Amino acid sequence: MRIILLGPPGSGKGTQGDLIAEKYGYPKYSSGDLLRQAVKENTPLGKEAAAIMKKGELVDDEIVIELIKDKISGEESKHGYILDGFPRNLNQAKKLESMTDTAREIVFDLQLSEENIIERLSDRLICPECKAIYSGKDRKQKKNMKCEKCDLELIQRADDKPEVIRERLRVYEEQTEPLIDYYKKKKNYYPINGGRSIEQVFKDVCSILDKELNLSNLDYSSR
Ligand code: AMP
Repeated sequence: MRIILLGPPGSGKGTQGDLIAEKYGYPKYSSGDLLRQAVKENTPLGKEAAAIMKKGELVDDEIVIELIKDKISGEESKHGYILDGFPRNLNQAKKLESMTDTAREIVFDLQLSEENIIERLSDRLICPECKAIYSGKDRKQKKNMKCEKCDLELIQRADDKPEVIRERLRVYEEQTEPLIDYYKKKKNYYPINGGRSIEQVFKDVCSILDKELNLSNLDYSSR
């Protein structure tokens, strides 16, 4: 089972991906996290990606495809995996299909209005270590600006600044939105209202996934 999380920045792909990973036991791969890690480690690939990410544009397909390919071809992905932020354009989607022979693929599109996106991203803080996502407002109220797990000071992502958010939204509309039609045609596309609570969204995700997994268990002996 391959689970693809589509949706604009801030729609909750990372959060829902983590919850799916925890409940269903599939590994989750976030192309954004993999790139940020490469930037942090200052690898040649990270150096190339850093400036592009800062502007909110898409990193070269070949770089991202290499990163993802390495993950999904590993042993831990053999029963399935979750992709967060990949594919981001048609070329990546087609390359993904040619890379692996996956029995079933399901696409969740977490939908969110532009107003909500800007509000969420401007408020988003992350743990520099485990990448857990927090609401700045919520942490201020609790008078605790540290990660609950790692006890490290939370930070704002460089690309969560207003001018970069606008560019990321523009890129999303231009390059990623065409994937909606692509997956609709493949009949594996599930739009989900991402403007609700984490729990409500996850409930919808689970009911679709449970149904799909039962179906695929009948059709195929593996997940
Ligand atoms: P994200 O964490 O998914 O919001 O991604 C942060 C940034 O990483 C994006 O704005 C892009 O610059 C880059 N990035 C992440 N995933 C991809 C991808 N699949 N293709 C190209 N660039 C990506």
